[in-house]
Amino acid sequence: MAEHEHFFQILQKKIGSSLRMHPWTTAQLNSSNIRLMSRKNLGEKLLDQILPLFEVSEELTRFAGLQPLYDGINLLDPVYCRKDEVLRMLEKCTGLDDSQREQLTSAVMVFMDIVKKTDLNPMQLKSITTLSLWWKIFPELKPWYALKWLWQQGIAVPHSQSGYRAWRRFSHGSNSESAKNANLHPKRWLEICEEQNVFETAFEADRLAAAFSGEGRHAGLAGVCGNLPDCNNCELSLECHWYATDGNSENMAIEERIQRNKISTADIPELMQWLLSSNPEEAKALQNSLNAEAPLKDWSRERLRELENQQPLDSNLILRLEALREMCRNYGIEKLKPKDQFNSSREIFNHFHQQLENQKQEQFIIVLLDNKHRYLAEEDVTKGILNKSLVHPREVFASAIEHRAAALICIHNHPSGDPEPSQEDFRITERLVEVGKLVGIPVLDHVIVGGDNYTSFADKGLL
Ligand code: SF4
Repeated sequence: MAEHEHFFQILQKKIGSSLRMHPWTTAQLNSSNIRLMSRKNLGEKLLDQILPLFEVSEELTRFAGLQPLYDGINLLDPVYCRKDEVLRMLEKCTGLDDSQREQLTSAVMVFMDIVKKTDLNPMQLKSITTLSLWWKIFPELKPWYALKWLWQQGIAVPHSQSGYRAWRRFSHGSNSESAKNANLHPKRWLEICEEQNVFETAFEADRLAAAFSGEGRHAGLAGVCGNLPDCNNCELSLECHWYATDGNSENMAIEERIQRNKISTADIPELMQWLLSSNPEEAKALQNSLNAEAPLKDWSRERLRELENQQPLDSNLILRLEALREMCRNYGIEKLKPKDQFNSSREIFNHFHQQLENQKQEQFIIVLLDNKHRYLAEEDVTKGILNKSLVHPREVFASAIEHRAAALICIHNHPSGDPEPSQEDFRITERLVEVGKLVGIPVLDHVIVGGDNYTSFADKGLL
């Protein structure tokens, strides 16, 4: 059995009939009845579609500025259409720049070629030869766009990018979405759908794969092989290469690593680049600035300013980077809920690390616990250079008494990054422990956070 058929065989055998009976799929298949195309209609709709892709201002319409183009596309003779004739027509339009005129001239010329070669016969319009012409009209990176547009015009052409992705996962165990991967061009998907012998038509194969990949989700048809594949509930899993192979994550595209839940710390620079930038100039500047060892921590204001100088003026990359950092920071300091328990100094460190690691000043926090040592509340006691007078037992225990705490833990940071306790830290701790004994609210630990490390007085037996 040919490799591209296996997917459709299993799809048909296991869930084909239930997918086919769903109203979404039925509607999709019924709407593929061939309709004859009117040249006027198709030409005008094509212009409506491609003008925004060529960044023509929204203010230019068939009634304002572009009337010669809209009229001309209906009047040109497809057999004898000449470039200079199209250019003259575009020169009569107002508001277009030279590059847009150039793009529109070649789009109109190719459209005339399509009209000449197919006579707008829908069967001819979706042949691979004609599709190659449609792909010349739409911008280079949007070949799927062309197919989707043709489908909207009533031409039953396979156009499901996500169906192709599901097929790739099932048949190859991979779904590299890398732009470099030429196999992701829809031409390959069209060939696969044409060559399969399981479903009656290529279009039907495409629609069933689309349903399986979750394209009908809005209509209540939740396919399982969508952006985040739900392999545990997939009836095709036993035969699926993606499910069988966990793969070597080093060779996977970043999208695939996300889908497989395989992002590690070493991937963060690439992940940031993927998240933050689709603009090649921004991507290049980011690439030069990312530090594989400490990618997020290192983004000081000075470094952001350096990066800002390498950006296009209208870029808001710096803001997006700040937003990402802030998001991670907030995630890291997400508050504990009452009744959660700290079971080790490591858990205390993990909870406060993000909040304290970049503080320029020392900050002293207490966590108040109930009689089963479950979390009650946390309080900021003070900020600044810590000394005995700033961390006064009165401040610490007033709050503990107010919350009726049965015990407490102290945490503070060393902006220097060195977590070793100073003489002052020893004196403060000793004093708090003594008062705790007197008032019946023991100090269970004092954790000092310094950079990525910490010291626990309790772990070191210093309490
Ligand atoms: S097992 Fe997972 S990856 Fe494979 S076809 Fe099913 S949902 Fe898709």
